Parts: sequence; structure tokens; C-alpha cells
Amino acid sequence: MLRDELNNLVQKRSQKALSEADDHEIYGALLEYTKEKLDNTPVIQGSKKLYYISAEFLIGKLLSNNLINLGIYEEVAELLKENGKSLADIEEREPEPSLGNGGLGRLAACFLDSIATLGMSGDGIGLNYHMGLFKQVFENRRQKEVPNPWIEPEGWLRDTGISFEVPFKDFTLTSALYDIDVAGYENGKNKLHLFDVKGVDESIIKDGISFDKKEVAKNLTLFLYPDDSDEAGNLLRIYQQYFMVSNGAQLILKECEEKGFELRKLHEHVAIQINDTHPSMVIPELIRLLVQRNIDFNEAIEIVEKTCAYTNHTILAEALEKWPIHYLEQVAPQIVPIIKELDVRVRAKFHNPEVAIIDDKNRVHMAHMDIHYGYSVNGVAALHTEILKNSELKSFYDIYPQKFNNKTNGITFRRWLLHCNHELTRWIGKYVDGFQKDAEKLEGLLKYADDAAVLDELLEVKHEKKKQLSAYLKETQGLEINPDSIFDIQVKRLHEYKRQQMNALYAIYKYLEIKAGRKPATPITMIFGAKAAPAYHIAKDIIHLILCIQQLVESDPEVAPYLNVVMAENYNVTMAEHLIPACDISEQISLASKEASGTGNMKFMLNGAVTLGTKDGANVEIHELVGDDNIYIFGETSDQVIAHYKNYDYRAADYYINDEQIRELINFIISPEMMKIGEPYHLLRIHAELIQKDWFMTLLDLKAYIEAKERAYRDYDDRRAWSKKMLVNIAKAGYFSSDRTIAQYNEDIWKLK
Ligand SMILES: *Cc1c(COP(=O)(O)O)cnc(C)c1O
Repeated sequence: MLRDELNNLVQKRSQKALSEADDHEIYGALLEYTKEKLDNTPVIQGSKKLYYISAEFLIGKLLSNNLINLGIYEEVAELLKENGKSLADIEEREPEPSLGNGGLGRLAACFLDSIATLGMSGDGIGLNYHMGLFKQVFENRRQKEVPNPWIEPEGWLRDTGISFEVPFKDFTLTSALYDIDVAGYENGKNKLHLFDVKGVDESIIKDGISFDKKEVAKNLTLFLYPDDSDEAGNLLRIYQQYFMVSNGAQLILKECEEKGFELRKLHEHVAIQINDTHPSMVIPELIRLLVQRNIDFNEAIEIVEKTCAYTNHTILAEALEKWPIHYLEQVAPQIVPIIKELDVRVRAKFHNPEVAIIDDKNRVHMAHMDIHYGYSVNGVAALHTEILKNSELKSFYDIYPQKFNNKTNGITFRRWLLHCNHELTRWIGKYVDGFQKDAEKLEGLLKYADDAAVLDELLEVKHEKKKQLSAYLKETQGLEINPDSIFDIQVKRLHEYKRQQMNALYAIYKYLEIKAGRKPATPITMIFGAKAAPAYHIAKDIIHLILCIQQLVESDPEVAPYLNVVMAENYNVTMAEHLIPACDISEQISLASKEASGTGNMKFMLNGAVTLGTKDGANVEIHELVGDDNIYIFGETSDQVIAHYKNYDYRAADYYINDEQIRELINFIISPEMMKIGEPYHLLRIHAELIQKDWFMTLLDLKAYIEAKERAYRDYDDRRAWSKKMLVNIAKAGYFSSDRTIAQYNEDIWKLK
């Protein structure tokens, strides 16, 4: 059946036999074929439906995942192979939509997969950014941003013909709704609704990713989070957010009305999950739309309170949105009186100014609105939720203890195991059954933890993935890495709190060790991948630093055989899918208390990498699951770190002055050999930053980090003992399936029927 259909489709589309068609032609046929299968997949029904509103959905390429979830991957791959084609090669040509920055957007994508897989009725609502986030290119060892167009004439987007009017202060925009099907694993389908503006004009982009920020009707959905370092950038974000939630709210009410639900009982039929504060304006917007539909204002507030739930993703102050009220007045004045009234009611009830919605500087605290006017507040890992309850949001927890709950993040095993690591999936399948649908079954692997033959097979699988990654990096980026070296990987957004700079200082340490004749038993490959926000100068300096070290090490024949430092360009989901299965050591070294959860840590663990990390975010839970022997934990605890901030007692300069080794490593940044390779201005700036400011306390944990990493590298050489660590990590990764996370959201928050 499938064979004939696909053969015929290729023939019809390109007048060629499958074996004669090129990858491009076959891709087109597979896309059409898969979309038709999706058409025939039933929409998941239910009397209560979830809407997951998020400014980001970092979905990645969709072909393989759709084939896997539709249950036809093996058959298609086999057919292609018989015709001398490779599904992996064919999928390479699919553009990756970069509709997210990092973890938060990827989480939303994993959640959609799990919601459909568990047969729950739940759609995503977001924006259709034409250029997504930028594409990163390196020029003269510096990051440059260029647009990342991903929408093709034929793709996964479907024009629904649905549109709404969204009123702004001086004009009204008409939306156009595009949907992407989200098929569950061997289940029905839901939708990802992406709203666009009719009349977006890509021609206004000039030079990199700059454009006229004032032409809102032409630029609203051009980019994700354009530069917000100036007022026009901030206003554009508010335009985007309001456009997203107004469309979302209108869609939700339209669907309810079509199903004949009474809007007064909205909460019996709808749950709205607000993913971080970007969609928070859905609260006043829904109130406004309900009042427009003749519901009393007080009742509208009550309805919305019972319908909306909020997920907090961060305690970094700069990421908690506070919009000046005059910005909101310039964009969507119709919701301002509503927000003011919500604030008046809060102030009448609670006299603590900390919990007000509008502060004394006339800024609207979006999270505060969510907490007061939503029924659930969740953190994304056990430690993070405790920090919210005990410090960051303590005044709110005191008022509403019943609203607070934890939902430790998860990842979809369809993408992060079945799709990205066929070899490991096959190996697991030899020893345990049913893990595809019930991730906890992976624990069955523990039976083999001391079986030498099984452990050797696992090493073989890892080595195969390392060879594949080496070939991929060579082909796509011209990078040469040695598959027989230790692959030590840190890939994630570039941020000082994630401390790529600490890892870079380790690279300097190892370089100097090797120069001094102390060579590692096994060569080391340190791999980085990270985009920096365009206006985040220190982050860009750190990229420059890493690329300079890469150059230094590569061109030093004394060092190059033992150490390789590479930074892969344009880290994205596709790159992650290649890197993670090949990793030996997973770098999760954020300053304790700063990484809410992390999900990269889970992907690596699932693929048999051993974590080198701090007691932060979900690392804490990984540690509890695998035990001391199967993870490398170092550094100060979140309580200690929080105390340093409270007491203002961390001074980087003290470490620099008092510790000779630290001083040597830092000063190497501006050594003659580095200054020759890099740009002195940037190297001097990062050097000064590390000594004078170092807000995220790199030097606090540097020595403990070096010690822990040296220990991990030594342990690596006992290959069987290492393989056992890998096996235990894989076996214990079941807890981090987003199927578990979503089941808990449903049990405690959504209660879908
Ligand atoms: C999983 C993922 C992230 C999140 O990584 P963290 O280490 O949790 O910050 C970011 N970007 C991409 C492309 C991912 O796949």
C-alpha cells in the first residue's frame, strides 16, 4: 500500500521513479504524503480542552517525527533505502523553523507532542514569525545575526482561512491563522495555531536583522523577540503579545460558541496555560471579550480566574516582565482600564505593596496579574518551585498556598530518543519492552548494569554516534573532531548564569597543563554551541573568547593532539539532535538557583551522557535518581548562593587577587597569544567583567569545577565502569519523559475530560 502510494506520488510529482528522483523531489512527495496521512488522523475530542499559549514553539523539523508518530517511519525508511536513498539525508533539506529561543520554546513543543500522545484535547497558540529567531554565523570569531526564513510554498503550515480583527490604539490589524498538525504517537491529532498578520512585508529587512520597528502592520510577525534594547523594540514586543492573545482569546471563544458551550461555564470546557508571562495579557483580553458578549464585569473576572493557569520559568529579575503602563496605553488602551481595576481590587484586599499589579513607578507586573487572576502557579523543577515559594514569590505563596505546585519539566522521548538515536533505541529494545509508551520501563535496563557484554555493546553504540557526529560536523561546518576522544559538550543559550565562561576557563587550564607537559590519557574534545541575544554584549564577548581559544588550540601542534575546542555554528534543534547522542559528558554548570530546570540535561541523560553539574534546577532530581556514583556534582548550593546575593559578600576580585591559579587563567584571556588572535577590545572587556563584576559568580565554583571535571575524565578511562554509569543514566531517565509531566499537569491543573 504505502509503497505503491509513495512510488506513484513521486512519479506524479516529478515524472520519475523513486530511485531516479533527487532528495528534493522525494522530500516534496513525502511531505504531501505525510500531510495526507495527517488529514486522515482523527482530531482528539473532549468536553474540556486545553489551550497552551506560548510566544515560542521550538518545534524542530517535522518530517521524521510525524512519520514516527504516525507509525510509518520504518516502512518509509526501508523503502527509501531499497531505492538507494536515505531518509536522514532527505530530511536535511527541511528548513528548521526557529520559533523559539531555547528551553522554554522547546518545552512547549515537547508538551504538544505529549498532550496528543496521551490523547488529551489540547492545542498550542502562538505566532508565525516569518524569520524566526536569527540564524547565527561566525565572522572574524564573532557572532553575526542573519534572518532565518523558513516558510516555503509547500510546508507543514496550513492556511485555515480563519481570521480575526485585532484592535490597536491607532489601527486594526487582520490576522491570518495557520495551523500545523500535531500527531500523537499512535494516537489522534491536535493543532498548533500560529497567527500571522495579513500584509507582513519581508522587504523592509535590511542589513542583518534590522528593520523599521515602527511599521507595525508590516513587521509584527517578522521576527521572534526582536532587539528590545530600545523603546521601539519594547513596543513591538507588546504589539506581538497583544496580537497573540487577542487572536487566541477570540479563537477560544469562537470554538466554545461553535460547540454550544455556555461562556459562563468556560472553565468547565477550557483550561488556558500561560507559558511564562509573554501571554499574560490574555487575562484582561478575555475579560474584555466576555464583557463584550454581555457578561457582567465581576462575573467575567471570576470566569477568567477559574480558567487561566500560569507557569513561571525563571527567577532572573530581568526576565520577569514589567511593562510601563504608558506602553500598554500606546498599544492596546482598551485593556488598560481593566488592568487598573484588577490592581485596585488587589490593593483593596492586600496591603502589601509587593503584591500589587501596578507598582509605584507605574509598571505592570505581568506575573503578579497571573498569580492573582489565575488558579494555578507552577514552577518547573522541585528546587525552582521551592525557591519561588520560599523567597522569590513568598508574599504570594503566603496569600495563595493552594495555587502553588511543581511540575518538573520533561522531554518527548519520540524526538529525543526514537528519532535522534535509532541505534540506542534498537539497543534498548533488545533488553526492555514497551518503553516507547511507558518511559518508566527503561528501569528494566538496571538488570544488566553488571553484564560486561551488554555494557560493551552500549559503548559500541556511543562510539557509532560519535563517528556520525564527527562526519556531520565535518560535512556541514568543516570542523574536524576525533571520535576516539572524550566528547564534552555544553550546548544551550549563551548566558552568564549558564557559565560558558567557566568552561572556557577550563579550556585555558587544560591548554596550559598540556603546554606544561601534563597530557591527558585520552584526548578531549570540548564542544560548545550557543546563540547570544543580539544586544547582550558580554554574551557575545564570551562567544568571541571561545572562538579565540578554538583557534589557539587548533594551531598549536603541541596541544592539538590532546585537546580540541570547537564551537558549532547556529545551535538549534537539528544540531542538538546530532550532538546529544554523541555526548560523553553533559555540561550543566549554571550558578545554583539560576537555572529553573533545564531540559538539555534530561536529553543528554537519556542518551547515555553523564552529567557534570551544579546542584541547580533538575540536576538535583537527576542526582537523586542516579545516585552519587553516576553524576559529577560540584559547587556551592542554591542556599549558599542566595545568601551571597543577600549579603553582597561575593567579590570576584578577591578570588582573582588571592588565588594564583585563578589569576593565571583569567589573565591568559589578555595574553599576547590571545590578543593576537582576537579583538583586544572584546577580550579586555570580558577580562575586566570577570574580575570586577562577575554577577553570576564564575570564580566561586571554578576550582571545584576543574577538580570535578578532572575526576570525570580520569573515570572515563575505565570504559566498563563508565558504561555502567551511562546505563544507569538511561535507565533512570524515564522520570523525565514529558508524558509524565503532562499527566501531572492534567491531574493537578487542567483536569481535562
Ligand atoms: C533543549 C534545548 C534547549 C534547552 O537547553 P538547556 O540546556 O536546558 O538550556 C535549548 N535549545 C535547543 C535547541 C534545545 O533543543
